[in-house]
This record gives sequence, structure tokens and C-alpha cells, in this order.
Amino acid sequence: MKKILFKNVFLNGTETDVLVSGNRFEKISPCIKISDTENAEIVSAKNLAILPSFCNAHTHAAMTLLRGYADDMELFKWLKEHIWPFEAKLSARDIYEGSRLAILEMIRSGTTFFNDMYFESAETVRAARELGIRACVGMTVTNFTGEEKIEKMFARLRELPKGGAVGDDGLVRFAIAPHAVYTVSEKLWLRCAELARERGVLLHIHLSETKKEVADCVAEHGVSPVRWLDSLGVLGENVVAAHVVHVDDEEIEILRERGVTIAHNPVSNMKLASGVFRAETLSARGAKIALGTDGTASNNNLDMREEMKFAALLAKVGGNPEAVPAEEVFSWATRNGFRAFGIDAGEIAEGKLADAVFVDLNNERMFPNHNLISNWVYSADTRALRHVICDGKFLMRDGIVPAEDEILSAARELPSLKK
Ligand SMILES: [Zn+2]
Repeated sequence: MKKILFKNVFLNGTETDVLVSGNRFEKISPCIKISDTENAEIVSAKNLAILPSFCNAHTHAAMTLLRGYADDMELFKWLKEHIWPFEAKLSARDIYEGSRLAILEMIRSGTTFFNDMYFESAETVRAARELGIRACVGMTVTNFTGEEKIEKMFARLRELPKGGAVGDDGLVRFAIAPHAVYTVSEKLWLRCAELARERGVLLHIHLSETKKEVADCVAEHGVSPVRWLDSLGVLGENVVAAHVVHVDDEEIEILRERGVTIAHNPVSNMKLASGVFRAETLSARGAKIALGTDGTASNNNLDMREEMKFAALLAKVGGNPEAVPAEEVFSWATRNGFRAFGIDAGEIAEGKLADAVFVDLNNERMFPNHNLISNWVYSADTRALRHVICDGKFLMRDGIVPAEDEILSAARELPSLKK
């Protein structure tokens, strides 16, 4: 089994050694002896802090191709007049290259797991498997997907082992992603929810993102999106709901009781002027909160560190400076996120999966080190990242992702991006 011994790494306020064995942290202790670890590669980590890597709980990876394509407008206009027409022209090759570009960006900003929702999901799965990152890839279902395609996706899920994993290492799996209440019929919601339960996979959805979504749902079904989906029996512990901006206290209670994970996307919510996430209330009521970037078209990057800062600041806009402190938002982006997806990572502790980032304490934004988490949430940028490991393997080492040049040149050749 391959071992890596990180010497003199900064963890919990002190210098220690961290031994990775296979895909887990085997031992964390000062002065681990080399003789104990014959086959270990020794990596000096002096002046580097080890922190859990990020879990991006909601994104659309291949939307990197639409970065900057249409900005500064409201969600429905943005989708109908710009995003959906562009997406209609995308090929499987586009999705593959767009996903690789996204994964490159995620690795370079310290993310080792992403929860995706897009078309041609097999291409995103292929990209994630090749690049060694963890992912849960939702097969997007809407009323426009077409019966034949839906049947094909569902048949694929039935072929996979329960849980939807692809391959033996367990890093990448499929989910079902009914897009939203305004794009998915009652009949389709019921089919998706039933299949998700039968196959033990996640249901990845958009929920109560805008006032218009809520008003239209009330007009059509007589109740809000949360209440409507709850009445259909859709909401449960296997549901990851993105946004959840426009909810009342009773709906918060429904989501908490059903064990739904809420993927908060502060930048997207601000950029599309969707509204202000009720962070303080949701947190106080014990809702399960994780953090996501949403797609690049509405962010316009996949930088989870930046997302933490925005989440913490947006929570304070309501007037309470104590709302969502740095430690809390850090746990949304790491421990809480991984827990929601049943991944035994998000903490640097013996026995946990070896997913981590190494941050340069000599970077000017990390100095002085009064409070590491404060610096990481409020001050740093991704230049401070030195290494990223996922499942015990380097995805980025000394700032280098091996496939970087090849990914960028392949993306430059895409016909869909040529004017
Ligand atoms: Zn989204």
C-alpha cells in the first residue's frame, strides 16, 4: 500500500507529522519515524497548514463553457434567452471538455468532491474518473428531456450497483437530478423519486430559488414548491436541494424533519438577484446546510474558498455581525458537505479519507496566523494552495495539475467556442 509521510505540517495550532496510508490518514503524531513506514514517500510540509478540502454541494461543471456568456440579468430571462439556446447546441464532446475544465479549476481551488447536475452526464463521469476527483453526477431530467432519453438514463441506473457508483474505487457515482418544480411534471417527479429510492441514489434538485418560482408554483399547484414536493413524498434524506432562498418557517421545519440537505449558493443568489438565503434562521433551526458554487455561468468561477467568504458576509447583511462565523461556514464547505454525501472525509483525523489541501503559511494573505480558519475564509486566495490530495493521491502538487496544459488546449479547439 502506498504511503505518504508529510513531515512538520501545521495542524490544530501545532507542527506534526501526518501519515497517509492508501486512501486514509493512518497516523497523526509528531515525529513519525521513517523506519515505521518503510515504503513511505516523505514530503516536507514545513510552513504548510493541512486543512480539509472542499465539497462543492451544487454545480453544473460543464457550464464553464458559458463563463461570461450572459451576465447581469434575472434568472428566467437569463435561462430562456441565453443559457438554454446555447446549451441546445452543446455536443457530448463539449460536455466532456467543459467538465474537464471545471475539474481543473476545482482542483486548483482545493475542491475534491462536486455534486453535479447537467446533460450528457456520462461525459462528466468520464472526465471525473480520468482526473481522479470525487463526484456525484446527476442525470438531469426535465419535461423536455424526452421519454426515450429518460428511459435510457433510468436503464443505466438499474445496471449500476445500488448507490450508483461507477468503478471499484467509489469515487464517482450517478444521481438523479429532476431540475426544478417549473421544469418537471408531477408524474416525472414521482418516477424520479421512486427510482432514486429503489437504486439508493441521491435526488439532486433546485428548490425555491426565486420569488417567481414560488408564485408560479402556488398558482399552478395551490402550494409552495417545498409543500408541493413534500405532498408528493419526494423530500427525504436522499435529497440535496440547491438554493432554498424563499422559504417560510414552516417550510424550514419540513426540510429539517425530512432530513433534506440544503446546498447554499450565495454568489449565484446575489448575481441573479434571487434573494437572501435565510442563513441565520436555517442554522438556528438545525437545517443541514452545505455550500456550493452553482454553475460558472452564474458565479462566474468554482472557487469554494471565495464562496465561504460570500456566505459569511451575506449572512451578516441582515444586521447581525455574529451570524454565520468563519468556523461555521468552513464546516458547511467541508465536514457538513462530505457528511451529507456519505463521504467519510472533511476532517483531518486518523481513519478519515485522505482528502486535504496544503496551504502556504508564508503567503502574504496567510500572515500573521492569529487564526488559520479566519485567514482561510476571509483573507486568502487560491495562490496560497500548494498541494491538493484526494483519496490519498496528489491531484495538485507544488501548484501543478499534470493535465492542465492539455485540458486548456483541447478546450480551445472546441467548435462551440469558435466565433
Ligand atoms: Zn444550479
